[in-house]
Amino acid sequence: MGCARQNPRTALGYVIAMDAISRDAIIAWIKTFAGVIAAQKEYLTQLDSAIGDADHGANMDRGFQAVIQKLPAAASQDIGAIFKLVGMTLISTVGGASGPLYGTIFLQMGAATAGKFELTLADWAAALESGVEGVARRGKAVLGDKTMLDSLYPGVAALKLAVANEAALADALRQAEQAAQQGMRNTIPLVARKGRASYLGERSAGHQDPGATSAHLLLQAAADVFSAG
Ligand code: ADP
Ligand code: MG
Repeated sequence: MGCARQNPRTALGYVIAMDAISRDAIIAWIKTFAGVIAAQKEYLTQLDSAIGDADHGANMDRGFQAVIQKLPAAASQDIGAIFKLVGMTLISTVGGASGPLYGTIFLQMGAATAGKFELTLADWAAALESGVEGVARRGKAVLGDKTMLDSLYPGVAALKLAVANEAALADALRQAEQAAQQGMRNTIPLVARKGRASYLGERSAGHQDPGATSAHLLLQAAADVFSAG
């Protein structure tokens, strides 16, 4: 656990937001994640070949390459508008289940951050939480169904705990990433109850869920990029 830390104050007592996430950092996160997905495309597809139809890497890569093409058009707008563009692009370019689900994360995060040019850690946690709740509503999955929610839920829970403990940004993001990673690993023994993997029934056990894996990469990119800024 990171130690609680207060933001410094100026001589006049104004709180300096040390731990803000800038719009540039948000854009860097999206670009970094697109690069990570391109690099991990084969791995994600390999995971999906065991319990699905071997397209998760290709789906995610198609979606995020389209996002990279469109990103410059929204780069001067607020963070909410950028997230909205990402969400709409994913929904319109990815045919698999992951397109609408990742699209929903970004659309909900866009609604939660509308008009903002900078996010506090609490803003980030609230935006991600509403994104994850959106996925749960849309996909009707619950924790333990062997889906992306199995890494996203623990990630959000760790983030909220870190916010409550007034953890520093870098510590909070790393704790969220670690919790998501553990959640991802925890999908291995699970029997899938949602998505294509559920068609396999008991045979889906013993394999790591591809969507939980890409969702961990999403929070890992956030920890790497936002902590560096
Ligand atoms: P498809 O299953 O249509 O081929 P992908 O292979 O791109 O789409 O994505 C599969 C991933 O989507 C799964 O590993 C799982 O994490 C996620 N997923 C599938 N259905 C749901 C759902 N109802 N709720 C949440 N996540 C889901
Ligand atoms: Mg698939």
